[in-house]
Amino acid sequence: MLDGAGGRDETNMKDKAIAFDFDGTLVHSGYDKGVHIMYSVYVACAATGFRCFLHPGDPGLDVERLLRGLLQYPGAPRFQQLAALLNSVIHDRAVAVEVPAGLGVEPEIAAEYEGVRRAYDTAYTELNDAAATKYWKAYPTALETIPRLATDFDLYIASGVPQDLLEADLVRHGYDRRHFRDIWGANRQGGADKAELLRRIKARGYRDVLFVGDANRDLEYAQIAGVKFFRYEIPEDFPRLAALLRTGFPDRAEPWTWTEADTDFFRSKTRRLVDALLTGHPLSPGEATDAIHA
Ligand SMILES: [Mg+2]
Repeated sequence: MLDGAGGRDETNMKDKAIAFDFDGTLVHSGYDKGVHIMYSVYVACAATGFRCFLHPGDPGLDVERLLRGLLQYPGAPRFQQLAALLNSVIHDRAVAVEVPAGLGVEPEIAAEYEGVRRAYDTAYTELNDAAATKYWKAYPTALETIPRLATDFDLYIASGVPQDLLEADLVRHGYDRRHFRDIWGANRQGGADKAELLRRIKARGYRDVLFVGDANRDLEYAQIAGVKFFRYEIPEDFPRLAALLRTGFPDRAEPWTWTEADTDFFRSKTRRLVDALLTGHPLSPGEATDAIHA
């Protein structure tokens, strides 16, 4: 057995490891989640004393601030995303801070932070559950490729999804956990980001480690941890990756940026949900997920 802290144990260990991001890499969910995060932060503010930071007369302003927070923290642990988006809504500073102290708000507002956190977690989880049931599917090319790669490499999952949810999602989407040496998500406190998880894998002493992810920030995590990176963009990238691996690990070093279509999607879909909330007819999680896919 390998110990959870990442100590090296050579039992059946292969000499190279590949870690996969989960959302948007193994499962088609990444962009929906961006909207879910933005809207859930808005909902959590609206339901608590943090509503004083919203601009109901100018929802576009709040959506832009939420968007700036999201674009800096795609694929980050959910409570780190919450901290960044709140900071962006309050101060137009899209940086994750220690919450609530780092938010620099009045003590009576800061005292409501636990409520914000709970409301956000609930709204986000409900939206994800609704979307996962109806829309999110594992990429068939990934389902086919993973077992083949598992014969030659130690496979891992390194995700920003909380550990308990990640394990359930993996099974729900038809992945066989026996193909993975370890499945690691974020802890509930918002810690254990992907850089830390990748470092833990690297510390096991592999000759080479590759991280496969879909977000620009995933590349940064790989670089911080000192491992190679392959960008997942379209389903054909899985067979392409399998072919590349015959000659060694690929490594992408150049960052990329969001396209206008990406940011328009997050902006317009979140605005649709916020507008419904502001008119007093908030969409149910099922209706919201239908609106996102309309
Ligand atoms: Mg992702």
